[in-house]
Amino acid sequence: MAKTFKAFVVSETAEKKFVREIKQRSTDELPAGEVLIRVQYSSLNYKDGLSASGVRRVTQAYPHTPGIDAAGVVEESTSPAFKLGAEVICTSYDLGMNTAGGYGQYIRVPADWVVPLPAGLSLRESMIYGTAGLTAALCLHRLQQIGVAPSQGDVVVTGATGGVGSVAVALLARAGFRVVAATGKKQEEGFLKELGAAEVIPRSEVDDTSGRPMLKPRWAGAIDTVGGNILSTVLLSIKPGGAAACCGLVASPELHTNVFPFILRNVALLGVDSVTVPTMDLRRSMWSKLGKEWKLPQLEKIAHEVTLESLSPEIDRILKGEQKGRVVVRLS
Ligand code: NDP
Repeated sequence: MAKTFKAFVVSETAEKKFVREIKQRSTDELPAGEVLIRVQYSSLNYKDGLSASGVRRVTQAYPHTPGIDAAGVVEESTSPAFKLGAEVICTSYDLGMNTAGGYGQYIRVPADWVVPLPAGLSLRESMIYGTAGLTAALCLHRLQQIGVAPSQGDVVVTGATGGVGSVAVALLARAGFRVVAATGKKQEEGFLKELGAAEVIPRSEVDDTSGRPMLKPRWAGAIDTVGGNILSTVLLSIKPGGAAACCGLVASPELHTNVFPFILRNVALLGVDSVTVPTMDLRRSMWSKLGKEWKLPQLEKIAHEVTLESLSPEIDRILKGEQKGRVVVRLS
């Protein structure tokens, strides 16, 4: 039987403006899929900001319910993998992009998008991580895979107070790295140090405009969430054999660089995409680590909670690069 529920819906007006409203929807309107999930928590990611403001490379058709993250309880399932009442996480794939997302109290999705809630995490905690946390975990995994280790020196995180950045700072520190946090928010030095940053530097220190083809080697590794000239600068400053994990583009999707870091210093540039994690095993293993050996004692310090009704100003804030940490959205 169809259920009515509340959702945060973005619609396009005749004047090509995008408006955000809370609306009643019916589960009949959700797409086909094996698993119907009653969403208890979602979260806010930069991509949700883009989807909520009409950016067509994220969402093509409106009206639309954004929310690339959802955690909740299975209410209907035609998949043997998910029993009624199971607590689950759904992130990535097309959720919240062109499939009605986690800013609705129900989602219906294919079973192979769904991950059982890992041991050690509540539904709420899983959404403090959300896509941002999964991405930060994948960045750390990629750096470790290539051999970047705490003994080799400092690791820099750019966009450090953001969602991916703040989790990355805390995860790297927990893994034993000396973390340098690069931020545009000088006033958040205390927050970043609480997360485990050993040093906080202004964004300008990793935004070189000298045009020099190589810079002094400074970083054993990097997690870059911003792209553009900041990623170019970081690459020119990676120590021999080091690596930069690249996952974001808030500054720019452009990357202008030269081959010197690669051919003179054996530097690696590692791409990270949480939407198409190469295997479901890797996805599950990242979630499992986030609940166990990588679980952050500072999770609550990173998060603040909002409801669908108070979500809109948070979206405006993330689009201006003004968010700090993670915004958890409570739907129940
Ligand atoms: P947030 O807005 O939470 O964080 C971004 C941070 O970047 C800001 O808080 C700010 O931090 C910094 N920043 C903002 N604007 C600029 C600018 N113009 N120049 C330099 N730094 C800036 O976003 P998320 O953490 O959710 O996402 C970060 C990026 O990662 C986005 O591009 C997003 O699309 C991408 N992403 C990619 C994923 C993947 O799978 N590859 C998954 C998740 C996110 P500060 O003030 O501290 O410098």
